[in-house]
Amino acid sequence: SRTYIVTGSASGIGAATAELLTSRGERVIGIDLRGADIEADLSTPAGRADAAAKAIELSGGTIDAVIACAGISAPIPLTVAVNYFGVTELLEALAPTLAKSAAPRAVVVSSMASLQANSPELVDALLAGDEPLALQIGQRLADEGPGTAYLNYPSSKRALSRWVRRECITATWAGAGIPLNAVAPGTVISAMTTQLLATQEGRDMVDAHVPMPLNYHSESVVLAKLLAWLTSEENTHVTGQTIYADGGADATLRGDDI
Ligand code: NAD
Repeated sequence: SRTYIVTGSASGIGAATAELLTSRGERVIGIDLRGADIEADLSTPAGRADAAAKAIELSGGTIDAVIACAGISAPIPLTVAVNYFGVTELLEALAPTLAKSAAPRAVVVSSMASLQANSPELVDALLAGDEPLALQIGQRLADEGPGTAYLNYPSSKRALSRWVRRECITATWAGAGIPLNAVAPGTVISAMTTQLLATQEGRDMVDAHVPMPLNYHSESVVLAKLLAWLTSEENTHVTGQTIYADGGADATLRGDDI
């Protein structure tokens, strides 16, 4: 069996992924704030370093795949800390161990929101790896009002998808034989969306931004199956991609713009 590190394993997409892989006989080491093999806060540099060190220790030195699902969608700068640095710093810390596997793979969870309006200044600060500046910009956006505050989320995901694209061809990833991808869900029924989807008004708002003509909102297991394939031995050449599993939202909104 293969050893998988899954972040956000206590809920939603991460929990469904851990369950699917376990049911297939794989070994899963989960990371989450609570209710996981490794309890760590990925919003801080110390929490990320602690999570990585414990993952390497618990794995016994062989990690075959990392699946980074942990994320939040709050209109505050904490969102960029978790969604961007909580993914990229953890992956970078685990890459040397991952490289020792015979078939190493990594995948992160981006979002349809990566295509939405964002703050280019914040996206640039994230890609520059400047966390203090990113948090400062995120706080300013939060202070300016609800419209700009929301930009913390799409900016975190745009930067993440772009990071995957830039990094995948470097010595750390392609050079070490590691496919590195992102998946972009549309609207998934999980703890993150429970409140929004509870009212008709909320559903209308979500659907106006994320139209899903194919099969409508998805369960978490839909993403779990895609994450499992991207990190399986079968995936040898897909890398740098953000794969939309969004019921046609990208095709509807972006159309020919590809
Ligand atoms: P969820 O809230 O059910 O699960 C997210 C998990 O991440 C939780 O268990 C939470 O505790 C964990 N987490 C949050 N902050 C953390 C931190 N600082 N340190 C460690 N763990 C932390 O949500 P979900 O829907 O499963 O979301 C998973 C991913 O999918 C997220 O990255 C989210 O942005 C993305 N996504 C979700 C949707 C959706 O509609 N639900 C759509 C697009 C993208």
